[in-house]
Amino acid sequence: DTAEVIVLGAGPAGLVLGNLLLASGVDCLVVERADREQVQTRARAGFLAANTVRILDRHGLADGLHRHGREHTVCEFRTEDGRFRLDYGALGLGERHTVYPQQELVRDLLTRYLDAGGRISFGTEAVAVVGAETLRPTVTVHDTDGRPARWQARYVAGCDGRHGAARRSLPTCAVRRHHRDHGVSWLGLLAEAPPSLDAVGYAVHGRGFAGHMARTPEVTRYYLQCERGEAADAWSEQRIWDELALRMRSSEYGELHRGPIVQRTVVDLESDVLEPLRYGSLLLAGDAASLLSPSAAKGANLAVLEAELLAEALVDDLRRGDGTALDHYSARCLAHIWRAQAFSHWMIRLLHGPSGSDPDSLFHNSLRRSRVESLRVSRSQQDWFAEQYVGV
Ligand code: FAD
Repeated sequence: DTAEVIVLGAGPAGLVLGNLLLASGVDCLVVERADREQVQTRARAGFLAANTVRILDRHGLADGLHRHGREHTVCEFRTEDGRFRLDYGALGLGERHTVYPQQELVRDLLTRYLDAGGRISFGTEAVAVVGAETLRPTVTVHDTDGRPARWQARYVAGCDGRHGAARRSLPTCAVRRHHRDHGVSWLGLLAEAPPSLDAVGYAVHGRGFAGHMARTPEVTRYYLQCERGEAADAWSEQRIWDELALRMRSSEYGELHRGPIVQRTVVDLESDVLEPLRYGSLLLAGDAASLLSPSAAKGANLAVLEAELLAEALVDDLRRGDGTALDHYSARCLAHIWRAQAFSHWMIRLLHGPSGSDPDSLFHNSLRRSRVESLRVSRSQQDWFAEQYVGV
């Protein structure tokens, strides 16, 4: 099979890219390891930044999120020093989040792509990108039956996430990998229960962090800081709800709406950035380019932003013979990526107490309390927070 652009991965990055290329008449083929049902039911992100909504609007891809998404503007911090709320929609640049589950967005993007005649090969695993240093790179794949094949393109877009084939195919001498393990793990939970507060909840407790984020009127995401290496199924439903109630201080601030826990995954908080995001004919976007810890909810938003930049650059090159934007693609994305990394790093230090083995734990805990206090009392700090929190 051949195409002008082969897109690896049908997540937010790959599907926004596929839709924009198709709309500009570029012949593309999306290669996706999972089947369609898996792709459009994987619950992950939910908070879309104002800029993400603007991008999707610009390309007519935002109907579903306008119909079913809900605006969100408040977060609430709960610590040993009390609680306070920040109406971030009225601070900083006055921008809001739209809460719309990632799987719904992916479903919308997929439907639009297929309705427009887009080509996608589900159940097909990309194994490697070969010849990225040439003008005719090929992608080796295993199809649904495990049969090997080789597909050729002018460009390959690696939107296949952190463990995908695009990253693996980059020669180590051609890219620099920045990696940081923040030494903190979260148990990510989805509960079939309505949200318990009308805000994102961030609770800092001596027993660890706990977070609350609305998804839909029936489903809520929670996070619980857990021990590194702990198995997700070591947490019974009873233990999860008791621990959430304790850390979120529900006896003081209101009981949580309990319900069945339908997803539990352990996420190690890590940052990972590749530099540059281009190697010849292979370009990276989304989680394949950089991984952020979920502390600042930026991953899906960066994926959409990068996909738009990449689509514009590819169209310039393929349709107008102008490769300038493609030459600048990596540097433009990396400026956004490092800004998001800096904020998510700041959030990690805001939300977590020192670990048990930290010899300076009292010192670090006092710094953490002071950071939260600054956010509570300083208007300029609140404006900065709001701008970073909703911005991408
Ligand atoms: P993905 O969505 O991972 O898509 C990659 C696709 O490539 C997948 O469909 C995969 O099946 C496919 N693939 C992988 N390997 C291959 C291969 N070899 N061949 C073919 N196909 C392949 N971000 C936010 O902005 N806000 C949030 O609130 C938020 N919350 C999160 C909560 C959790 C629990 C998690 C895990 C993540 C969260 N994120 C959040 C991050 C966000 O989900 C990701 O950043 C986003 O999915 C990245 O999109 P992507 O298209 O780059 O990659």
